[in-house]
Amino acid sequence: MRFIEPHIHMVSRTTDDYQAMALAGIRTVSEPAFWAGFDRGSAQGFRDYFNQLTMTERARAALYGVKHHCWICLNPKEAEDLTLAREVLAIIPEFLDRPSVLGIGEIGLNKNSRNELTVLEEHLALAEQRGELVLVHTPHLEDKLKGTRLIIDAIRNFKGITPDRVLIDHAEEHTAGVIRDAGFWLGLTLYPTSKCSPARAIDLLETHGTDRVWLNSAADWGISDPLATVKASEEMRRRGHPEALIEKVFFDNPRAFLSQSPKFSV
Ligand SMILES: [Zn+2]
Repeated sequence: MRFIEPHIHMVSRTTDDYQAMALAGIRTVSEPAFWAGFDRGSAQGFRDYFNQLTMTERARAALYGVKHHCWICLNPKEAEDLTLAREVLAIIPEFLDRPSVLGIGEIGLNKNSRNELTVLEEHLALAEQRGELVLVHTPHLEDKLKGTRLIIDAIRNFKGITPDRVLIDHAEEHTAGVIRDAGFWLGLTLYPTSKCSPARAIDLLETHGTDRVWLNSAADWGISDPLATVKASEEMRRRGHPEALIEKVFFDNPRAFLSQSPKFSV
């Protein structure tokens, strides 16, 4: 079966992961910009990272038969220093023009702070002005519902951004309905120790339906699994869902959302 992995941080993964993913049918990935595990100290540090995403990582993926796309932004964890954040926002447009960049992401909130909200709004203004797709990270655990509501309110203030061009990721049982009801695409993240297990994710699909939703591993430098989507597809199959529905969830849906950017291809 063919898979699209729509949210994975391949700069943190090994070449063995690329080989395992290609063997399992994951030959197309999209990589949002994210926090490196430490705070970058300058705009030049971000420029180097954006070059890595748009050039080096794309070339490395191609060596293993995987097509690589990416998203550009400043992570909410990097929003507290507003001076640095604005220096980075100023260089983002030149990267958005590159051939493998699908839009602005993953933006959002982490601790729901004032500066995070300011930087989120400045990214949204850029997305509206340029007509970019938007990929949103929602905060973890107890702040998730509050953060999701704040993010949805912020996006609604930008009338030029329509909900069908925004995916709100890392949804769980208590936020999936809020995102859905507001008309946005929904992302479910499969993590070995937090976020959704395959069983929880498939329960959510059975509750909320399979339209406007994607599943991803969000694999990065922490405990995570680049084959998580393949394992979740097995859980769907075990429960007796038809092959066409499984392919819809793991291939057709991410393709439909991502294809809103003319730069996406499988
Ligand atoms: Zn991520």
